[in-house]
Amino acid sequence: MNKPDIVIVGGGLAGLTTAYLLEQKGYQSTILEARNRLGGRILTCRYDDEPPLEMGATWLGKKHTHLINLLEQLDIGIFEQFMGNKAYYEPISTSPPQLVQLPENEDPTYRIEGGSDNLIQTLKQKLNNCSVELGQAVTSIQQNDRAVQIETTQSRFNADIVILTLPPKLLHEHISFLPTLPSSLTDIAAQTHTWMADSIKVALSYRTPFWRKENTSGTIMSNAGPITELYDHSNQEGSQFALKGFMNEAYHSLSKKERRELTIDHLQKFYGSKVDNYLSYHETVWREEPYTFANYQQHILPHQHNGEPIFQKWYWDHSLLVAGSETAQAFPGYMDGAVESARTVAKKITDRF
Ligand SMILES: Cc1cc2nc3c(=O)[nH]c(=O)nc-3n(C[C@H](O)[C@H](O)[C@H](O)COP(=O)(O)OP(=O)(O)OC[C@H]3O[C@@H](n4cnc5c(N)ncnc54)[C@H](O)[C@@H]3O)c2cc1C
Repeated sequence: MNKPDIVIVGGGLAGLTTAYLLEQKGYQSTILEARNRLGGRILTCRYDDEPPLEMGATWLGKKHTHLINLLEQLDIGIFEQFMGNKAYYEPISTSPPQLVQLPENEDPTYRIEGGSDNLIQTLKQKLNNCSVELGQAVTSIQQNDRAVQIETTQSRFNADIVILTLPPKLLHEHISFLPTLPSSLTDIAAQTHTWMADSIKVALSYRTPFWRKENTSGTIMSNAGPITELYDHSNQEGSQFALKGFMNEAYHSLSKKERRELTIDHLQKFYGSKVDNYLSYHETVWREEPYTFANYQQHILPHQHNGEPIFQKWYWDHSLLVAGSETAQAFPGYMDGAVESARTVAKKITDRF
């Protein structure tokens, strides 16, 4: 049999890695991506005179072997997250924050050289036999005698095999399937947690890293909020500086201006008026991203149903596979999980066709 035509729904890390692995084995594919950019939950924002700002995935550890192997294969380096030796800890809102000594970290956290989207752009550059279609939100997928038809908001595509890499919650939410997929899959998908999909990231860039000079590091852990975690986010070269962290997701209903003011007010507690002199404030409220977040009918726990065996099967008589970070076995929800899931589906295809 000739090699099958493959359509991959979603141009995040899982979709791009799947296309890359398949291409290495001589398969061609088409990626249909709903947004007008690649990367999905990897989003590196770049502005003049500011370090690359990771508004999505940022950190990895040495245990993330699928991701590390891919980075090595693509010749992309990693560098250690700057933590300093002290951190602010705000255990409770009724007493002031404390500056605490950090123990030596035996298992440090790393960032991707050049920004997390360096991985996305490098994968894209490696694809010679893959057509990447942006702005193609898939709305329905239908199997007939000879092929699978995929309909998007813009166009129609045919394939022998379709691989779904969007978060499982969204496949249930946004795509209609004919014949319908088994309820054993769709019921689980509807209740599968999408990692970080409701988070709020904030970043402030500065001309000088005042937090380093005063030996306080940029690390803050606060139970009082609204900022719950903050870290130094300067570039690897040490020439552009920023602080970046998470705001309690309950603040999603406020305006950007209100969130910026709350961020500054909170950080003044730690660093005084120096925080006022920021070059710019950036934020991403992920629950406003329809191709990442969808509301749940009921309460869902973090990582709920991630890595379920139901995601590992072939559907529609070897025409449909499910991938994406939340389907992975080892580190679902993380970049490593996205790469693992890509390896799993690529192997399923190369083993069979
Ligand atoms: C704020 C934040 C911080 C994070 N921090 C970390 C971290 O530090 N370390 C870590 O390892 N991981 C982190 N993650 C998780 C990491 O980003 C994900 O695990 C990984 O990027 C998921 O890749 P994916 O390809 O499986 O899914 P996604 O990145 O979600 O890609 C799915 C793609 O499908 C597209 N899509 C959706 N619907 C459709 C449709 N109908 N038709 C076509 N395309 C569609 C989307 O636009 C998207 O591009 C973070 C995530 C967020 C949001």
